[in-house]
Amino acid sequence: MTSNADITNAAAIIRAGGLVVMPTETVYGLAADATNDDAVAKIFEAKGRPRFNPLICHVADAEMAAHYVVVPPLAQKLIDAFWPGPLTLVLPRRADAKLSLLVSAGLDTAAVRAPGHDSARALIRAADRPLAAPSANRSGRISPTTAQHVREGQLLIEPDAIIDGGPCRVGIESTIVKVDGDIATLLRPGGAAREEIERVIGAPLNSPPQADKPLAPGMLASHYAPRATLRLNAAHAEAGEAFLGFGDISGHIKGKDASAAMNLSEASDMREAAANLFRYLRTLDERCQTLGLSAIAVAPIPRDGLGEAINDRLTRAAAPRG
Ligand code: AMP
Ligand code: MG
Repeated sequence: MTSNADITNAAAIIRAGGLVVMPTETVYGLAADATNDDAVAKIFEAKGRPRFNPLICHVADAEMAAHYVVVPPLAQKLIDAFWPGPLTLVLPRRADAKLSLLVSAGLDTAAVRAPGHDSARALIRAADRPLAAPSANRSGRISPTTAQHVREGQLLIEPDAIIDGGPCRVGIESTIVKVDGDIATLLRPGGAAREEIERVIGAPLNSPPQADKPLAPGMLASHYAPRATLRLNAAHAEAGEAFLGFGDISGHIKGKDASAAMNLSEASDMREAAANLFRYLRTLDERCQTLGLSAIAVAPIPRDGLGEAINDRLTRAAAPRG
């Protein structure tokens, strides 16, 4: 593992799909190219997260953010007041955004923030990519605020580089505000104070529904579900069903239109399956609409490694909706 990796080297690692631990003013982040599904899947694998929750995309500035998300005037106001700094904005993804769908956990929104740390911004600029970066700790452990914490944090994949920027100045996570037209909702309190945000927008922040209950990570993603019904642990597709396979699926698609079958990973590679999951679900859902199919049959997926998060997402997408 590299210590004090220089920015140029770290940027090359990012562009090649690797993992770099970077300091930010909030906590140390486990960073990967947010436009690369495989690299983003690696983040979830390294953290051992039991579910896919959307990740924050770190950008150099407002101009870079505007390539990926739609920025209404209210969001621009907050950006002007707080960036670079510990305020994350959840905004609609642009239709042409070259962001991984996994980074949004399949949602139509993306969380963006310009970190107030020179090394982080230098890395983003040198890589010329937005960086997905949750805290650089194993799932369930405390967020690291020094490079030494990261080394002790027992990530499940060794990062390709660690940039040591000393202790984090803020030391707590960013505040997350969702902006929907002219409505701003506080999703997570953090390094930017509510009062300061409210002073800038000249109105109180909305609270998310169920503000009395703590938001479990990933809970916000639970709304995404395909229009087609999902039938899990299916040996093969029945008539009227599309098929989402895993591993060897020869013989599982009986006389089906091949365009209604996709394979998350022929090689049974969990990372590849995670990288493909949201894209394939969307594609199959669209094909169900055009082909008049009512359901997607999903092959059994092992629960090891990223399989746990894949199964969690599929189970929630398959749950009955009102
Ligand atoms: P972390 O990167 O671990 O600090 O966590 C990121 C936080 O941002 C999680 O609580 C996510 O649920 C939240 N988040 C990221 N993207 C979105 C989004 N598109 N919509 C709602 N919440 C988001
Ligand atoms: Mg964390």
